[in-house]
Formats: sequence, C-alpha cells, structure tokens
Amino acid sequence: MSRKISRMHLRWLIWILCFFGWRSHRNRLEKIGMDGIRPPYLLLCNHNAFMDFKVATRATAPHRVNYVVAIDGYLHREWLLRFIGCICKRKFTRDITLIKQLKTVVGNGDIAAIYPEARYSLCGTTAVLPDSLGKVAKYLKVPVVTLICHGHHINSPFWNLHDRGVKGTEATMKCLFTAEQLKNSSPQEVNEAIRKEFQYDDYRWQLQNNVHVRYGRRAEGLHKVLYQCPACGTEYRMTSHDSLIECTQCGKRWNLDELGRLSAIDGKTEFSHIPDWYEWERANVRKEVEAGTYHFECDVHVDTLPKDRYIPLGKGRLVHDMDGFTLKGNYDGSDYEVRWKASELYSCHIEYEYLGKYGDCVDLNTLEDTFYIYPENCDFSVTKFALATEELYSHHLRQ
Ligand SMILES: [Zn+2]
Repeated sequence: MSRKISRMHLRWLIWILCFFGWRSHRNRLEKIGMDGIRPPYLLLCNHNAFMDFKVATRATAPHRVNYVVAIDGYLHREWLLRFIGCICKRKFTRDITLIKQLKTVVGNGDIAAIYPEARYSLCGTTAVLPDSLGKVAKYLKVPVVTLICHGHHINSPFWNLHDRGVKGTEATMKCLFTAEQLKNSSPQEVNEAIRKEFQYDDYRWQLQNNVHVRYGRRAEGLHKVLYQCPACGTEYRMTSHDSLIECTQCGKRWNLDELGRLSAIDGKTEFSHIPDWYEWERANVRKEVEAGTYHFECDVHVDTLPKDRYIPLGKGRLVHDMDGFTLKGNYDGSDYEVRWKASELYSCHIEYEYLGKYGDCVDLNTLEDTFYIYPENCDFSVTKFALATEELYSHHLRQ
C-alpha cells in the first residue's frame, strides 16, 4: 500500500514537470477515435526528442503508464525508473521477458508505452520499425493507440540537441485498432497500419507550417548525418558551423535557411530537403552491400554497461562487413570476441558525441550487456554504420 501511495505522489510530480515542458512549446494535441478508449492499451510513439515523453505523459493523463526504457535511460537512476514503473530493455535485442512484462502491464489495467523505433530519428523521418509489432499487439489483445509528434526534431535535432524554442509543435493520438478490430486482423495487417501511421517527416512539417528557426548556429552538427558530399562524392569530409554545412574536400557549401531548406552557396543545389540527402547516402551504401563490397575496419575504444555502471574495456578492433559486426579485444588479460550477425540485426543505435566522452559511438547489445564502441584514429561515420546495418539486414532477407 505504501508503495502505491508513493508511486502516485511521484506521478503527480512527473505530470507537473511535463506540463511545463509541453506548455513552453505550445504543443497541440489532437485525439482521433479515442472516445471510449480506456486503459489498458498499447501505446506506440515516435521518437525524436525527450519532449515526446512529456507529450505522452500529458496525452495519457491521468492514467498509469509503463514505458519501455532503453538500458542507458537507467544509468545512475535505475531505482527511480523502476519506482515509477519503467521496463528496461536493451535496444535491438529479441527479448522474450519484455513481452511477458508487457502482458503483466496490460493485465494490471495500465498503458504499455513503447517507442518502437528504439532510437531518436536521425533526420526527423521514420526509423525502421520491428516486424514483431503486429504479433505483440495481437498477443496483448488490447487496443493499439499511436502517438505521433511533429516538430520535436526541428526543435531539438538528434545531431544538435540545443533547444530552438519552436512553438506550436503538434501531436496526434489515434486509436488504430480497438480490441475487437484487432481480433479480426492479421499481424501483417496490424504491421501495415502501424507503418502507415508512422510515416512522418519533420522538415516537411516545418515547411508546411512555416516554422522559422532563427537560431544562428542551426546547422552545427548536421554533418554528422550528412557525412557524404553530393558534389564530389567524398565521405567523412563534411563539416558544419553556423547555418552552413560544407565539404572540406571540394569546398562546396550549403546554407540551411530558417525553414529547414538547404541551398548551395555556389552552383547547383543537389538536395534542398535534408531527408533526401540522407536517403541518397543510404542508396550509396545499398550499392556497396549489393555489390558485396561493404567493409569497414578500425581501432576502437570500448565501454560496456552490464548493469547501471560503465566498465571501460580499453582498446579493441571493430570490423563491420557483409557478415555484420565483429568486436575483438583483450580485457583483464583475456581475449574476447563478440559478433552481431547481419541477418539478426535489423538496425543499430548510434550516438553523436556521446556523453561528451570519446566522440561518436555505435552501441551494440547482447541480452546481458551493452557495448559502446568508439572508433579511433580513422575516418568514419556512425551514421553509415546505422545505414549499413539496415541495408545488410534487408539484403540478407532477400537472399
Ligand atoms: Zn565535396
């Protein structure tokens, strides 16, 4: 009983904190088909920034929600997150325990909230969704509700989290399937409906809604996503400052205007829409994968997170090729090797300038551990790792 009461006190605190979050951005919340929908239900949210969580809290109030949280969300505050009912998961692993925990949540009459993209979107568009969602929804036998936010990437993009003070962000909460409709739908139909609902493009939203970002350094960090020059094709030579992104190989520069459009300072504008540039990079990675030539190898620094404390593993060697990732190193006098097969990894999580420690990293999970892998002394892009992981998985599916 005392645990229940303290959980309620904490919930009020969270509501108050979140209220100030969404109010400062004047978020507009629209609910579609939600009349008569009461917990328990499955809530699927898109993921662009921490603001998503605040909007979700407002949208679901006053009901209890259990959020599936990635392991790094637990760092140094595991007790707090467990206390308010978060469920821990390592990203991009097939975790049967999680399904059982979700069943318990809906069994308790609560809301089970998942961010199925499992990472912040890199450029404000949909990230890959797991194929298992339809089956999970059918297994839970509760309504499927989506919450899609618009403008959160524009306000605080993953590649430069500075809060740009965007006002009038939007969110749509929609009941996709009632429990009855779910019963009469196949897992594939559920998946298709979820994928359709999850189509979003924050830069298009910005333009359509005439949202001006007046922050002078708005392009800083954009080269983390746009790592390949469309003019000369060179990789890893892009840089950015103020409102400019430029190629240090050929010298071409592009300006990012207040409405999120790129234009070349001189000559042709290859891509005015950031997600188009990103998809062009993906297409180039796909060509390497289809030709069977994709290969990357370099020295790395490795940290792991077996529980709630980082453990430095020191130096290692990372190979990413047609077979997937292989990490080799030596810890405490013993050699180790960890492999993540391309056919079993549909996506991976990356971080830019993670915790201000060693720079950009890719984090790869086993069921028991998370490896934070920082390439060193080489030209690389963790964005390319993410694109290659997705393209390798698709390639293996087609085989
Ligand atoms: Zn260039």
